[in-house]
Amino acid sequence: MDASKAPHGSALSPDPAIPTTATDPTTPAAPASASPSGPAAHPPEACASASASASASALDMLDRRVGGCRACPRLVAWREEVARTKRAAFADWTYWGRPVPGFGPPDARLLIVGLAPAAHGGNRTGRMFTGGRSGDVLYQALYDVGLASQPTAVSVDDGLELYGVRITSPVHCAPPANKPTPGERDTCRPWLVQELKLLRPTLRAVVVLGAFGWQAALPAFAEAGWTVPRPRPAFGHGARVPLVGPEGPDGTGGPVGPVGTGGTEGPVGLDVFGCFHVSQRNTFTGRLTPEMLRDVLRTAAGAAGLP
Ligand code: SF4
Repeated sequence: MDASKAPHGSALSPDPAIPTTATDPTTPAAPASASPSGPAAHPPEACASASASASASALDMLDRRVGGCRACPRLVAWREEVARTKRAAFADWTYWGRPVPGFGPPDARLLIVGLAPAAHGGNRTGRMFTGGRSGDVLYQALYDVGLASQPTAVSVDDGLELYGVRITSPVHCAPPANKPTPGERDTCRPWLVQELKLLRPTLRAVVVLGAFGWQAALPAFAEAGWTVPRPRPAFGHGARVPLVGPEGPDGTGGPVGPVGTGGTEGPVGLDVFGCFHVSQRNTFTGRLTPEMLRDVLRTAAGAAGLP
């Protein structure tokens, strides 16, 4: 084994920071408050800095708790079996073999929601879309439109940075045949809801990759405070659905801007974009071309206020 490829230490040895017993995702970590607890005793810059720091800390804590989750017996068995048996090409890797947390800065303005980690991609490297063909397509496009520092993603220590973008998935464990069950999707949803709540102060747009992610994400947006139309909008490549945000004085809602603009009236909204998934089936057949993907990412980045 090449120890340098082990992303977070030995994949199957306990990390003292991560629970080793079953974690109930219906009771996720209480997020740290992003607001000062008392009157403004510090300069505004210091408060803003403390708030950002608290948010980063809460998201880091959430990521660690996700990494210890064992709520879906079928997925736990599969991810760990894959980590033991490995693919021959990766025989010298220590697979991550755990739930894969979101990747990207805590103050992201744009979120990309996929489906679930790949058995020999994210489940091997421990980072979203890292080490697989789907990730090759996604990160190349993010780099092309100026949202990533490099076009490749091969391991957690490859130096990749995302600019204003975070990547997550509605199911955090690699499923057999890339197909989580509806029950597993629903069991994992509280993690996505908590992530959305922590990102909410800055989040302005989301790109959802594929119909499965769309069906999983819309209820999570609603649970996290945005208003999702009824009946729920259908998935489609290029679909754009503006969601009205929650009211609130804490930076997580109005009154600071109409949907997608960050203007001066109404609650802060969220623009949700549909995009075909970057799966090999879609990219090899030309159903999703690099240009189509770049177009959606550019439009979503513009809606999010990213340069
Ligand atoms: S899929 Fe989600 S809820 Fe199920 S075990 Fe993995 S992290 Fe936990």
